[in-house]
Amino acid sequence: LIAFLLYLFYLVAPIGQLVEGAVQLQQGLAAMTRIREIENLPGETVEVPPPASAEPVGVRFENVVFRYGDDRPLVHDGVGFEVPPGGLTALVGPSGAGKSTVFALLERFYEHQEGTITVGGRDIRDWPLGELRGALGYVEQDAPVLAGTLRENLLFAARHATDEELRRALTRTRLDDLVARLPEGLDTAVGHRGVLLSGGERQRVAIARALLRKPRLLLLDEATSQLDAVNELRLREVIAEVAAETTVLVIAHRLSTVTNADRIVVMDAGGVRAVGTHEELIGQDELYRELAATQFLVT
Ligand code: ATP
Repeated sequence: LIAFLLYLFYLVAPIGQLVEGAVQLQQGLAAMTRIREIENLPGETVEVPPPASAEPVGVRFENVVFRYGDDRPLVHDGVGFEVPPGGLTALVGPSGAGKSTVFALLERFYEHQEGTITVGGRDIRDWPLGELRGALGYVEQDAPVLAGTLRENLLFAARHATDEELRRALTRTRLDDLVARLPEGLDTAVGHRGVLLSGGERQRVAIARALLRKPRLLLLDEATSQLDAVNELRLREVIAEVAAETTVLVIAHRLSTVTNADRIVVMDAGGVRAVGTHEELIGQDELYRELAATQFLVT
């Protein structure tokens, strides 16, 4: 009887795996469809090529007016700010001020109704969509780590990266220590089927993934999760290093990021109320002082 039960188990186990595989496949296909939906704005076929140039680009918002739909309230009511090429610019402001919307407009997931947005001095409406998105790297908040190896996680958007480029991205994001610690290095399974990475590690994996595509402008929505002191320091170093090579625009949730930023854009109620360094804004702007005291936990 035991032998029979074992036999049954062997028969059933692969079926279980097949079912699981089918579910994963469906999830993957659904995700791909969603990506296609996002990438294909009406009338445009989008391929995201690697950027033709690696030169950092600046950004300019001029009197930008935007609402998510005709019957929706204004999110941006004349937003204006300038980010020169290279360096670190932080976007801060209370919840709902329109910070994530800045990223959505830059990626052209939505079209602004009035005003001008330029990337690299060129109106974003004049950029071929694929080229624009190829020039941008986007690191979302609490970026997911996919089931698969660390190598697969890093290379899925940059299949042709060389070993040298991969090694460099790992060094720049301080992930080489992690690779050394993992039992099978880069070929260790991570995500929910493997070694679980901490919040700080996950965000650095997402930054490494974005860097492998050589972005000319990196949009980073900083993780809000608590980081231990070592991970906090590493993230700060990584952001500073990346900002030395390309333009970084970050929605900042950490004091260490705003104090290191070359400039901070303070958004509130659909507009930009102040721009300056942390020291300047602490001295000049009441809302920034309040944000600094609460959002960034400074007293
Ligand atoms: P938070 O810090 O909470 O993320 P935020 O400053 O990034 O806030 P946004 O996410 O840009 O603000 O949102 C600005 C306003 O636009 C909010 O009122 C929000 O509800 C609305 N909004 C954001 N995304 C969408 C969307 N896809 N469709 C409709 N309304 C949206």
